[in-house]
Amino acid sequence: MMRVDSDLRLGILEKVGIYSCRFGIQEPKVLLTTKEVLEMPKAITQGRRTSAYKYLGVSYMQHNLVFINIRKIPDDKTLENTIVHELVHMRFPYLSHGKRFNRLVRQGLAGKNFKPYRKRAKNLT
Ligand SMILES: [Zn+2]
Repeated sequence: MMRVDSDLRLGILEKVGIYSCRFGIQEPKVLLTTKEVLEMPKAITQGRRTSAYKYLGVSYMQHNLVFINIRKIPDDKTLENTIVHELVHMRFPYLSHGKRFNRLVRQGLAGKNFKPYRKRAKNLT
């Protein structure tokens, strides 16, 4: 179990920044505790709010928001994996879990740069 201190928080934000850049996505807002999840407006965390604690990470894709569940993450490797996993959701929002998803996670962890994500026209406001 990892403690949420400011060094850890900064380290995570730095990693999220680096990987977001490689994935060609806008850097998401990051939540690190269930308390922070519960403090968000219900409309944003709807569906994964009180259940968020069960997961290593949660993506709220429509809101460019990611929850990294530090208290459930045992080590640095799992942390890195969780960050990349959630960012793959952000970069490939229509892709569900499976072989292709896992390959993208591996490529992300290996440092691959992806083309910038273009939102579909219906999502542009
Ligand atoms: Zn997932």
